[in-house]
Amino acid sequence: MNQPTAREVWHARAADRIAAGIDGRLLIDGRRYHAVDGRCFDCISPLDGKVIARVARGQAADVELAVTSARAAFSDGRWSARSPGARKKVLMAFAERMRAARDELALLETLDMGKPIAASLSADVPGAARCIQWYAEAVDKVYGEIAPTGGDALALISREPVGVVGAIVPWNYPMLMASWKLGPALAAGNSVVLKPSEKSPLTALRLAELALEAGLPEGVFNVVPGFGDEAGEALALHMDVDAIAFTGSTRVGRRMLDYSSRSNLKRVYNELGGKSANLVFADFDDLDRAAATAAGSMFYNQGESCNAPSRLLVQESIADDFVERVAAQAPGYAPGDPLDPTTRLGALVDARQTETVMGYIRSGLEQGARCVAGGEQVLQHTGGQFVAPTVFDGVDNTMRIAREEIFGPVLSVIRFRDEAHALAIANDSSFGLHAAVWTRNLDRAVRVSRALHAGTVHVNQYDEDDITVPFGGVKQSGNGRDKSLHALEKYSELKTTWIRIDAR
Ligand code: NAD
Repeated sequence: MNQPTAREVWHARAADRIAAGIDGRLLIDGRRYHAVDGRCFDCISPLDGKVIARVARGQAADVELAVTSARAAFSDGRWSARSPGARKKVLMAFAERMRAARDELALLETLDMGKPIAASLSADVPGAARCIQWYAEAVDKVYGEIAPTGGDALALISREPVGVVGAIVPWNYPMLMASWKLGPALAAGNSVVLKPSEKSPLTALRLAELALEAGLPEGVFNVVPGFGDEAGEALALHMDVDAIAFTGSTRVGRRMLDYSSRSNLKRVYNELGGKSANLVFADFDDLDRAAATAAGSMFYNQGESCNAPSRLLVQESIADDFVERVAAQAPGYAPGDPLDPTTRLGALVDARQTETVMGYIRSGLEQGARCVAGGEQVLQHTGGQFVAPTVFDGVDNTMRIAREEIFGPVLSVIRFRDEAHALAIANDSSFGLHAAVWTRNLDRAVRVSRALHAGTVHVNQYDEDDITVPFGGVKQSGNGRDKSLHALEKYSELKTTWIRIDAR
């Protein structure tokens, strides 16, 4: 008998996992519960359109229980009062559990939101575990300050956890985005209520189980799956939530500020959308590498990345040649079975997202852009959600495909004359997440990097990424920063303590 292929092995594992039943109940105070009103929603896999789990549909009553549990845990100090070194031990064990559960977590992530299993295994699970471990290792090395005030008093400046953190995250990197909140929030001593996206709730629930197994006390990390306008709204409006750490669309990020102003003025940290500009100047000599990166960074995760370089700005003198090189990359990203380890571009998260992306492709054509690669939905016979990697040339920065975040594998090429023209186009966007400049001219690299309105600027690359480096945007891409030691600032309050020193 022939050995099963790697793809067949993953399909067999998926069938077994689904047949064994995926627990979609809420996790509150260390236990799994049905929603108070007993309601559930179907978790549909974008691989084939089949229901893989029934998930509790959290409502205000469930959020109430979760916040009450998180508050009790915070107030009695079972986690918040532990020394940073003691918290570190538990979080290190949590990261180890995640690594040990790599295959299971990767499978759930891929089944739930469609990304290739190779990415889930090599990037999402290890990246999430590294994030938890990094904050665990960091938190007992962060010192307070003594202010230089003079002799008759002592002013101590310390950091305290904010209390109960509501984390609301999207579906494009469910485990990673959750970990970017959980790592610093838990390390700093907070309690967390996590509301995963209704499109990808499975790994969040499993993470909370692993955290409990690792020794995180009950009530410190609760998960309430559900819809945005139900569980999400209830969490963000809750009077006993001290901070909301939100990652998602700019549209919903706006609402977070509104919820805060209508409730208790909780801190709101928004990590929002992007329409990042990737500027390629004619003097850059390795156009093949620039083209491979322009396509690879755009089509990674099916284009469902907030920082995808979705506006490719190319200097006119090399534009024909460069667009050809980029379009030539597209077949290498032909959509395929996400459970096949050779697949580079998987399924879009759901049918609605496919409709959205196809709507943008139609609008690009209607507004006069030229489609030079892709442009169609494919593999429909699978029942899954697949769109071919698409490249539009001749895009004008006023077109919808240049202004709005598509969140699919659609690249818009815009031509520019010179540096000033390139910068004017790049900065003419309501977003400011990432940007890149490709040039061998050092002065230009520095000038353009300084002038680009973005939280991160890449020079002659786009794929560098590390937990040590802050991630976040300016303008309508948000205000917070995930990752790096700076993220700890979101999850702690500065406390000043004045101590009078009497003369003897
Ligand atoms: P979304 O804004 O629709 O949803 C994000 C989360 O908010 C989900 O959990 C959702 O249920 C919840 N939500 C929706 N409506 C709500 C409401 N009325 N009240 C409270 N909660 C609500 O975003 P999405 O489609 O899940 O994710 C894609 C977006 O996330 C893109 O815009 C992408 O750029 C952005 N994103 C940003 C970053 C970053 O770091 N800047 C990272 C990843 C994704």
